[in-house]
Amino acid sequence: MLDIAIVGGGPAGLFAALALSKSQKLKIKVFERASSLPGFVRGTGLDVNGMKAFRAVDENLFLRIEKEVVGLVAGATEFNQQGELLKDHSKASRQSEFDKIKEEYGVPAGMISCFRMQQIMFEALPEGIVQFDHALQGYTEGPEGVTLTFQNQAQAQGRCLIGADGSFSCVRSMLLHDGPPASTGTVTWRGRLPWRPDAGLPRGRECDQTYMGNRILAGLYGMPDDLVCWVLAAPVDLCEQQGVACDTHANAGSDSTQPAPCDAKPSGSSAHERCMKVAQRAALQMQNVVGLTSPGTTTEHGIYTRPAAELEKYTEAGWGRGRVTLLGNAAHPMRPTGQGLNVTLEDGVVLAWHLQQGGLNPSSLRAFEQERIPRVAQMMQQDQALGSIAFQDDMKAAMADLPMAPDNYVTFRNGWEPPKLPLAASNFGSSA
Ligand SMILES: Cc1cc2nc3c(=O)[nH]c(=O)nc-3n(C[C@H](O)[C@H](O)[C@H](O)COP(=O)(O)OP(=O)(O)OC[C@H]3O[C@@H](n4cnc5c(N)ncnc54)[C@H](O)[C@@H]3O)c2cc1C
Repeated sequence: MLDIAIVGGGPAGLFAALALSKSQKLKIKVFERASSLPGFVRGTGLDVNGMKAFRAVDENLFLRIEKEVVGLVAGATEFNQQGELLKDHSKASRQSEFDKIKEEYGVPAGMISCFRMQQIMFEALPEGIVQFDHALQGYTEGPEGVTLTFQNQAQAQGRCLIGADGSFSCVRSMLLHDGPPASTGTVTWRGRLPWRPDAGLPRGRECDQTYMGNRILAGLYGMPDDLVCWVLAAPVDLCEQQGVACDTHANAGSDSTQPAPCDAKPSGSSAHERCMKVAQRAALQMQNVVGLTSPGTTTEHGIYTRPAAELEKYTEAGWGRGRVTLLGNAAHPMRPTGQGLNVTLEDGVVLAWHLQQGGLNPSSLRAFEQERIPRVAQMMQQDQALGSIAFQDDMKAAMADLPMAPDNYVTFRNGWEPPKLPLAASNFGSSA
């Protein structure tokens, strides 16, 4: 029998496996339904709290991740959709902000390729821990442990089960029976292209560009290897005005064995055509960049979340039951406003600490959940408020209504300190 069976090999599952194997000697497996790690570049914000979580697990791992972080982009600029400059963070001021963060919190923050981050975590795990092509079908719990059944007919047993299987979690649907998350009524397209000198594109660590207003949120940012990533998001009603029909509830996973909606949405040329139509409402620079992108690399997905207030239902009992808990998006799906990944990394360290302190039993799992719920609920509230103002014409004015003033939120977010994990033998190579 395994000590811990983790379902889902996304950031939550991989990082929990690292934190757990760092803090004690455990028999762990991560079961992932995909055949391999995702092989494409998409940038994700890695903030101070996420970086602290990495450092709490292993200094060498932290240093490897730090090398990949595109430092809080010197020279970020904000435009409206008419291409007028709203704010120009000069290189000097952004750089000093970057230095200030590092000085104040001891860690940097910035963008990282989600793929590279997962690859580093995967390589840092002992070989064979991650089992690909294992899509969970169901599980049953007995007094001593949990039996998992996979679609490929394989079975596994673990003393504890961690559901890290994303927003449309199969584990959650069997555990809490609370249905799938709800659509936020927005659609997001992403793409990437090689940097080229003639298109006014931000390059590498130099700068990023955000375009707001006209009910569209879009951005471009340089990534390592001379790649430029872009994102463009819009509300469904605006997409429909542009002739792009959206059924955000189609395949939304009411039966969680269905693929998550981001898999079910079009990608490649049909996603690209749909994006081109919506991009007509965006700044010319965005239209150009979408136009220059190879259609095959464009992806489209809806954004799904659960109300922050729902978490309060779980304050007493926790979001797990018996020997089963949830982690990351399975526990608290968030809008992509910059904290989903970071909160997920926080989860991993806190879970490892509770299991190390209290043993592999239901009480340790409940103690983990109860510690996490108040903080996660506050972050979700802020995230939902930010998400709901992102498509207004005057985003800056709407910020006055956020639950926490931006500065207070930054202090709350960055001030988090991870618990001190005991130093077990490191799994990670010493070369930083
Ligand atoms: C487009 C986008 C941009 C984002 N940008 C940011 C950002 O800038 N900053 C930030 O902090 N966060 C961001 N986020 C959020 C962040 O990516 C997520 O919070 C984070 O990925 C959560 O990780 P997870 O492992 O819980 O879920 P996921 O990344 O969804 O991983 C779940 C894993 O479980 C697997 N799985 C699912 N079902 C099964 C099953 N039945 N059996 C086995 N395996 C299964 C899936 O294949 C997947 O590998 C963004 C999210 C999106 C979608």
